[in-house]
Parts: sequence; C-alpha cells; structure tokens
Amino acid sequence: MPDTAQTAAGAPRETLPLSLLNDYVYCRRRAALKIVEGWRGANAHTERGDVVHGHADLPGYEIAAGVTLLRALPVWSEVLGLLGKCDIVEASVDGGHRPVEYKSGQRRPWGNDDVQLCAQALCLEEMFGRPVPRGAVYHAESRRRREVEFTPELRAQTAAAAAALHALAAADRVPAAEYLPGCPECSLFNLCLPKATAADNRAARLVRQLFEV
Ligand code: SF4
Repeated sequence: MPDTAQTAAGAPRETLPLSLLNDYVYCRRRAALKIVEGWRGANAHTERGDVVHGHADLPGYEIAAGVTLLRALPVWSEVLGLLGKCDIVEASVDGGHRPVEYKSGQRRPWGNDDVQLCAQALCLEEMFGRPVPRGAVYHAESRRRREVEFTPELRAQTAAAAAALHALAAADRVPAAEYLPGCPECSLFNLCLPKATAADNRAARLVRQLFEV
C-alpha cells in the first residue's frame, strides 16, 4: 500500500484519502478545510452516514447467491494517488469485481458519490488487472440500490478530480467560500460560515483587503 505516488513529472506526491474526492466534488473548500486545516464536522447527515457505515464496514466476507461479499476492502491507486476502503466489493466467480458504496441519504445532484465510486473501481482495476464496468450506490434511507456505469466521461471526471485534489493539497491554502446549493447540508457549515465568508461578501472582502499588501 503506497504512502506516496508519482506525478506525471515523476516527482513523489502524497497519497490522499479516497473519500476526499467525494468532498472535493461536493465543494473544493470543504476538501481544503479537511486537508489544510484538519477540520472535521458532524451533523445529522454525517452521523446517519456513520451508522450506515458502521454496518457496512464490518471486516470479513460472506457468501450470497454465488457472489462473495468483501467488506471494508482496502483499495489504492498509484495512478490516482489515492488510498481508501470500499464498503463492499461483490466478487463474482469469474473474477469480476463490483464496488458498492453505502450512503445514508438520497441521491444528491452533485455527482460526488458517483466519482467516489468510480475511483474505487479504478483502484480495483489497477489492483486486480481486470475491467470493472459498473458498481452501485446503496441508499440506506430509501433502501434502494442505484447502479452506476463507469462511462468514459465518468472515468475522465474522476481522474480530473483526483488531479485537482492533489493540486489543492499541494497549494496548501483554503479557497474562499462560495454559497453553494450543498451548503445547508454540509457538516462543516457552522465552521465554514459560507454566507459570512463568501468571496463576494462585502465585509469579508474589506477584511481581506486589510491584510493584503
Ligand atoms: S459550508 Fe458550503 S462553502 Fe463551506 S465547506 Fe461546506 S459546502 Fe463548502
């Protein structure tokens, strides 16, 4: 399991937690606050998610209908520079793998869950040398399973998001807030204060100008 990976230029780079990709697609300030400031927040959404993952993260495996369920499987990609854990990987007898990510709430329109799932698939492809064409997101609240196909577009979006996440980590600074549609559900909302700190907020702009030389 790598601690570092190579950039395209050959320089070593830090291996980042795969889950940060979800944060990055949701809001790059959220990802930066976690990487740079080490912020962790909890709200009803994350607590519900922790309960769901508490059930999904049990190590070990069990056999169901000809499919082996691998729970809490560690995965990594040197290409993406990411390291994480799949809630569940369904392993079929022909050697195929299908990641399944558990989410507490309903599907959100930001695409962050699909990018996270696709990154898991890219890790599995790199680790096992077999194509992973699709996976699924299981929404615990609705008890619905949503199939996700790893299209060339989703793969490209995932690779681009991983590269941008590394650039964000290397920059080591937190972007200014923007008030986004996902802000009200964000577990960092009360720490981030996006309305008060948004880049176009006049008071925040004046404070920034005071410290800019
Ligand atoms: S509150 Fe909004 S701007 Fe702040 S980290 Fe969360 S999503 Fe991003």
